[in-house]
Amino acid sequence: MFTRSRRNLAGWFMLSMGSILVTFAAVRYYLSTIEQLKNVDSLLYKKAQVVAATIQYTRQNGQEQVDLSNVPYLGNLPIPPSSDAVYARWYTPQGRLKQFFGIATVEPLGEIPEFQTLTIEAGILANQPVSVRQITLPVQYRGQLIGYLQLAIPLTQVEDRLQQDLLISLIGILIALMIIAAIAWALGGLAMQPIQAAYQHLQRFTADASHELRTPLAAILSNAQVGLLAPQSAADRKHQRLEKIAETAKSMNLLIGNLLFLARRSGKLAAEALQPVDLISVLKELINGQAICTAAQHVQLNLEVSEAAVIVNADRELLRQAIANLVMNACKYTPRGGQVTLRLLTQFRQAIIQVEDTGIGIAAADLPHIFERFYRVNQARSKETGGSGLGLAIAQQIIEAHGGTITAQSTLGQGSLLQITLPL
Ligand code: ADP
Repeated sequence: MFTRSRRNLAGWFMLSMGSILVTFAAVRYYLSTIEQLKNVDSLLYKKAQVVAATIQYTRQNGQEQVDLSNVPYLGNLPIPPSSDAVYARWYTPQGRLKQFFGIATVEPLGEIPEFQTLTIEAGILANQPVSVRQITLPVQYRGQLIGYLQLAIPLTQVEDRLQQDLLISLIGILIALMIIAAIAWALGGLAMQPIQAAYQHLQRFTADASHELRTPLAAILSNAQVGLLAPQSAADRKHQRLEKIAETAKSMNLLIGNLLFLARRSGKLAAEALQPVDLISVLKELINGQAICTAAQHVQLNLEVSEAAVIVNADRELLRQAIANLVMNACKYTPRGGQVTLRLLTQFRQAIIQVEDTGIGIAAADLPHIFERFYRVNQARSKETGGSGLGLAIAQQIIEAHGGTITAQSTLGQGSLLQITLPL
């Protein structure tokens, strides 16, 4: 129970810290991407301006001429050795491609933004898709538009840098999460300490109190029983009182026994306490036992088991008690003429024991609480049936101590199905 709470506490701490960390890392990565792209854009802009500055504009025979012969990439000049341009294109003011270096395009220049990130198709560059950043710069001469210069440079370096950045961030997050997990686990342990101490104190108190109550109770019971041995006369009121005392002492004894059981046992059973147990023989022994036979007098009790033996590692007596509690309940809460079926199945390396009845059922609102200590669906009714609200809590404690689970399904007025699952 404490380990689970500690794990939950650590989990929530890690989740909250982790999400803050991831959000920070994501924002940082986003800002870094924008920053890098800005740098690329300013470099691209400068490059485009240098290129545009070498364009010559002349007027021959009254005709305007754009001379690109000295323009790097586009003219007769050799491409600058430091060039990393993927392509350079010159468009007329009307948007028609006039001259290019690198990759041409058939599409006329439309409405496009000044800066654009594009992916160039595979096969054109190093046989793989490459992202490029493109600038489209309108070039003017004396206030008059003479054409458009389009220049693109690869984003490979930026992508590499960003990828490296991402990798470093991921490794950083992973290491930070591991440190956070360790801190969360330690803090969870610290937070649990006082609760655990208080719980153990309470458990010790319950165990001691129950133990101390047993002796005087045994004395009351034995005295009442001795008194009952005396011959009874019809008008003997004392005899009736003694009978009442003995009955009450017996049910108190049962309650104290249950309390002591719950207080003394917690956590999983030690491996030495477990032995191979044949579930079929446990179930057969159980339904032939006197307690169940008496409880099931008014109902039809069925046993459905397979032919092959089903073996689990368990404490036979404890397991018998857990199943008996369920069968006793099924009988208790099923009216005369009803049916109670005890079933054994195996599924996915698990043994499943089902106790199904056609009884009064449990309302959906009560169902999540029936395994709580002292929880009774209907106090008055349970008093009638002699319940204390500990039977299912004990059954659950026993099954969980075996590494199993216990669940309940029910429809009010139609019946209930309680199921124990044990690892095979
Ligand atoms: P009790 O000793 O009162 O039976 P339990 O812990 O065994 O206590 O059960 C808790 C409550 O769950 C009971 O008071 C009863 O109302 C309800 N309950 C348990 N089993 C059944 C069942 N098979 N059918 C209907 N109600 C049930």
